Amino acid sequence: MYDVIILGAGPAGLTAAIYTGRAWLKTLVLESAVIGGNAAVADQIDNYPGFPFGILGGELMENFRKQAERFGAEIRIEEVVKVDNTPKGKKVITTEGEYMAKAIIVATGARRRELGVQGEQEFLGRGVSYCATCDGAFFRGFPVAVVGGGESAVKEALFLADIASKVYLIHRRNEFRATAESVDKLMKNEKITCKLNQVVKRIEGDTVMRRVILQNVHSKEEEVLQAEGLFVSIGLVAATELVQRLIDTKDGYVVTDDHMLTSVQGIYAAGDIRSKVTRQIATAVGDGAEAGMSVTEYLKQLDFKE
Ligand code: NAP
Repeated sequence: MYDVIILGAGPAGLTAAIYTGRAWLKTLVLESAVIGGNAAVADQIDNYPGFPFGILGGELMENFRKQAERFGAEIRIEEVVKVDNTPKGKKVITTEGEYMAKAIIVATGARRRELGVQGEQEFLGRGVSYCATCDGAFFRGFPVAVVGGGESAVKEALFLADIASKVYLIHRRNEFRATAESVDKLMKNEKITCKLNQVVKRIEGDTVMRRVILQNVHSKEEEVLQAEGLFVSIGLVAATELVQRLIDTKDGYVVTDDHMLTSVQGIYAAGDIRSKVTRQIATAVGDGAEAGMSVTEYLKQLDFKE
């Protein structure tokens, strides 16, 4: 029996593990994909305090991992398939086995939203991608497009401008959600052309993708954009599948109180999966610390009762 099982090894999950590890709680962190989560594949991170000249996402998250392990957290790459709240404790079933814990912290984060247009699935991995830092290098010297108007899309476009021959940034409105600093860099970059008030109608190609068909949201006119790659960066969808039948959610995100407690005793949530306004590494770290301390307090009271 573990004291706590943390689902997800992103910034929130690893921070929670540092806190529960330091409190001598027997801690297991389960991660289905990449240790560090979305942050691990981010290029340069300039707004995480403590690194005045920025740090690579992979390097930052490797530091988080080492720090959690230093305090005894066990980290395993295993896909969780089911979570149950049983009278004997919280049961976590993975593709490899079953684990029991007194408490759970859900920190499975959020994944990229899909466009849902014709060609998106067909050309996935053959032009369509959700991560410029992972796949951008395949498009050296070729024209590519990015879709989205948030911080992620603008950052993806800027990153790709150093690799591709040309970058189109497709956005459905004429105003960006990204920060003024990023938009300023975007406007100054001569390799990037903004395609505003446009949506992606479909993606076409042969063995690989070759072009994107755009539609103007006002005139409904279509335009063909020659591009070998399309980077979809239109926001996030919380990864709540494992827990949504157990705990309360709102608009697809997990509802917690200020101590990261969900609607079920002993189940906490932290990071991007939580219903909140800001989703940054720094805020995920805050959530993780709070969740780690709350679990520590909860288990002290549980032991007292037992
Ligand atoms: P976001 O801020 O939610 O922006 C999503 C963008 O995609 C919006 O511009 C939205 O358009 C557009 N969009 C949504 N659905 C669409 C659809 N079906 N078709 C076309 N366009 C669509 O998402 P994000 O950029 O991934 O950022 C997520 C969070 O991470 C934010 O809180 C952001 O600040 C944070 N982030 C921070 C950093 C950093 O370094 N600090 C980097 C990346 C992300 P509308 O504008 O019209 O709604």
